[in-house]
Amino acid sequence: MKLILSSSNPDKIEEIQRILGDEYEVVLKSDIGLEDFDVEETGETLRENAYLKAKALYDKVKENIIADDSGLFVEALDFRPGVYSARYAGEYATYDDNNTKLLEELKDVTNLNDRRAYFMTTICFISKSGEVYYAEGKLDGYITTERRGTNGFGYNPLFLVKNTNKTLAEMDDLERLSINHRSKAIENLKQILEEIK
Ligand code: IMP
Repeated sequence: MKLILSSSNPDKIEEIQRILGDEYEVVLKSDIGLEDFDVEETGETLRENAYLKAKALYDKVKENIIADDSGLFVEALDFRPGVYSARYAGEYATYDDNNTKLLEELKDVTNLNDRRAYFMTTICFISKSGEVYYAEGKLDGYITTERRGTNGFGYNPLFLVKNTNKTLAEMDDLERLSINHRSKAIENLKQILEEIK
């Protein structure tokens, strides 16, 4: 089965392809000449954004489409930044700006247990015939009080994974990919694809 990913990020496709296996051929929108086809993420939830991205591409090519959206949800911040994780410290914020803002907003929350957070990924799959499915994955943890580690991207240096003593940025790729929210969502997607085929 061929799946078109509504993204131009080759790292994402590698992870998805590795988990889904050879039965599926995952291609990027740039592989079908649509690298400039962009959708504004105007939704208020991960589901809405994943759907917006999948539906726009589906309407254009009428093939099997997948689109994902992820975010960090911090309990003490009423589950912000959530869907705004990439833009938390402003439209052109760097990962470092976002991490600085997160530490600042949590500076008075001293007990680690009150710094609970989770990452969530939602994948929207629209089948060639137009049916819509959602797959989700979650990773629980805590926001540390200082950066630890350098691997990966985004909030990794501040995200202490529950039941471990490591931030995501202190894990190597293999360890991180074996537990993270995106991998779980892709595994969930695989189950859905197996059920409907
Ligand atoms: P995206 O939807 O995968 O682009 O994720 C949106 C934003 O959430 C990213 O720009 C990061 O700031 C944050 N994020 C999502 N997944 C991760 C992760 O695995 N580690 C660190 N940050 C992440």
